[in-house]
Amino acid sequence: MSRLLLIGPPGAGKGTQAVRLAEAYLIPAISTGDIFRSNVKNETPLGKQAKAYMEAGDNVPDSLTNDLIRHRLAEPDAEHGFLLDGYPRTTDQVRELDEFLNGHGAALDAVIELVADPDVVVKRLRKRAIEQGRSDDDEAVVRHRLQVYREQTEPLIDVYDGRGVLVKIDALGDIDEVTERIIAALAERGIALPDTAPEGVL
Ligand code: AMP
Repeated sequence: MSRLLLIGPPGAGKGTQAVRLAEAYLIPAISTGDIFRSNVKNETPLGKQAKAYMEAGDNVPDSLTNDLIRHRLAEPDAEHGFLLDGYPRTTDQVRELDEFLNGHGAALDAVIELVADPDVVVKRLRKRAIEQGRSDDDEAVVRHRLQVYREQTEPLIDVYDGRGVLVKIDALGDIDEVTERIIAALAERGIALPDTAPEGVL
């Protein structure tokens, strides 16, 4: 079982790939964005606190996010492996995740960076705005999210590169192709698909 993390700008395809990889590696995909969206939809206290930040394309404060992820990672299905999508996004969140993993005698096996050109990403998100009606996919908000990514999240790539766990993947092209690229790159690092992976995942 592996502990993996997907990192990349909004619109790079993290959510899509996370679901596919989770199925292939038999680990839960944990998306902080999805968890926040479902809290907003259900009007929970957390959702009410997160809503304005999300709509503006800003990061939800670390205190809320760290709390949420600490509880989620402590659930039994994440004990032996997980795929994080959209977390950590700030250096404070990296510190929090490190602390959690150290406390459990665990570490990340790989950090998968989905590399995508900003212009392509903006185009993809414009399409998603129409298809899925996500209010934070509005063009001005998208540009702000990209800026937040560059300022707050991109620096994490060097941190993980320095630890020798970074795997860079070209995120452009066919969805299947990108999944195959990730699986091949992970295999090269000794992270193999489980023998019991369900058939037809790819
Ligand atoms: P995503 O689905 O990953 O693009 O996330 C959608 C929105 O949820 C982001 O723009 C943030 O407002 C919020 N969010 C998701 N993950 C995090 C995180 N790790 N830290 C702070 N805010 C987050």
